[in-house]
Amino acid sequence: MLQTTSRLLAHAKNHGYAVGAFNTNNLEYIQAILEAAEEAQSPVIIQAAGSEIDYMDGYVFTDIVRRITGRMSIPVAINLDHGESYDRSIQCIQYGFTSVMFDGSRLSFEDNIAVTRDVVKAAHAAGISVEGEIGIIGGTAEIEDMLDHSQELSNPEECRYFVEQTGVDCLAASIGTAHGLYKAAPKLDFERLKTIAALTKVPIVLHGGTGVPAADIKQAISLGVAKINFSTVVRQACISQMKVTLADDPDNLDLMNILGRSKDAMKKAVIDMMTMCESVQKAENWQ
Ligand SMILES: [Zn+2]
Repeated sequence: MLQTTSRLLAHAKNHGYAVGAFNTNNLEYIQAILEAAEEAQSPVIIQAAGSEIDYMDGYVFTDIVRRITGRMSIPVAINLDHGESYDRSIQCIQYGFTSVMFDGSRLSFEDNIAVTRDVVKAAHAAGISVEGEIGIIGGTAEIEDMLDHSQELSNPEECRYFVEQTGVDCLAASIGTAHGLYKAAPKLDFERLKTIAALTKVPIVLHGGTGVPAADIKQAISLGVAKINFSTVVRQACISQMKVTLADDPDNLDLMNILGRSKDAMKKAVIDMMTMCESVQKAENWQ
């Protein structure tokens, strides 16, 4: 059944786990995420960024997710990842997403507050939730520099003010993770996370979940993280399997076989991440 992200995150916080949020951009990728969640009996957030939505067509995306989810018992949220504008958020509300993220982290602090507040107003009127972002969560290439310049990580006092001013339901905070593949395990600033969670009182979202060690994920959850984003790890599983499939049989022209084997690999990667988030079996007796 479709749910807002804030309902999923409230359940996660109450039961001491995090909900995995998985990016997607094609049919097998959508099937892999939802089938993994049903198999693991795990709540799940399926999400797409602007370029992914444009690639799939937002209405087609939500129609497929609704159709598959309608046959399942687990709670599912459809989220806009890194919404780049107010207009993109409105578009996704119209597509039938159940939450949107507005990423104004590269705007001035004041402009980020102003636009996020407008997004919250529109989204809450439509009954859906909003994720805001403070501090820049860059790519893994940028992270080395960021660790040397801790002012680019989220400032806890700014986080508190931002949440109070905008009314966001959850907050993506920059605490040392990045998008993409890490060269060495990332160093998470747990002290900062703890302070941000205490001051804002909203669930914290961890971006760049791929490659974060299980022990760090566990600690992050205990300090207030309730949503963890994964993208690279699933695409990597898909493409690695595709290379094996084609190396095994270079003349294979059965697309269902090639994509189907990759779908199974993605499913396995998603279940592995759900296990790390400790969300497996948490959809049982969902109310
Ligand atoms: Zn992100």
